[in-house]
Amino acid sequence: MTQITQPHPSSLIFIPPAQLWIGPAPHLSDLVKEYLQKKLCSHKGCNVCTTCTRIRDEQHHAIVWIKPEKQYSVDDLEPLFKQIAFQLESAEQFFFILYGVDFLTTTCANALLKSIEEPPTGYHFILLAQRLKQILPTIRSRCVVSSFSHDDDEYKSHPLFAFFTGSQKSPIDFMKIIDQSKITERESIELFDTLLNHWMARYKNAAQQQNLLNIARADKIIKTLNHASKELPMPGSSKLFWKNLFLQLHPSS
Ligand SMILES: [Zn+2]
Repeated sequence: MTQITQPHPSSLIFIPPAQLWIGPAPHLSDLVKEYLQKKLCSHKGCNVCTTCTRIRDEQHHAIVWIKPEKQYSVDDLEPLFKQIAFQLESAEQFFFILYGVDFLTTTCANALLKSIEEPPTGYHFILLAQRLKQILPTIRSRCVVSSFSHDDDEYKSHPLFAFFTGSQKSPIDFMKIIDQSKITERESIELFDTLLNHWMARYKNAAQQQNLLNIARADKIIKTLNHASKELPMPGSSKLFWKNLFLQLHPSS
């Protein structure tokens, strides 16, 4: 993932009504807690007071955490709509943290639009997602967007990685690994990005060495990956996604 901006959360004095943070889920989760501690703790995020502890435990009274299991349903947003109907005391701040907005359906997005655009005084939205490309434009255009990079290396040691870089080819071994795998759609997207970066680097290398055979090979794989990127796994479809990609890259197997 390329890094677009990396604003330090505490540097924002004004809190935008709606923010969209892009990055790997666990990383964003830590960052958002750090951010909320800075905003709500009277010592600007001391990390030890009751406020800070409650934020870390997701028990703070002025924050609603929304983490849908799979794809969003309007029911997931119900706590948000219930809360936002209440007017806050002046100077009171309230936050809604929405995880995985990559998987916001159009219906849910439409239900959210008005609240995000003009939330009642004191209410703020922080939307967390893995990829900007997956976000509905109607949502994206109403948010202040920040991107947070992630470390590629974590996924280079993933057991599936070797099957897509040429170092392992056996379809039998692949099927064994994928059937035992508990890879989620989020991890799949991270792994996919790592693979794409890997092949781009190999293409560049081959081009520098003017190795035509390797250029052609990398080019073919990048094209297949780009094609596959149009249908990245949705919740529950990760294994199928990897099986299809394996077949496309190893047509004889
Ligand atoms: Zn504190």
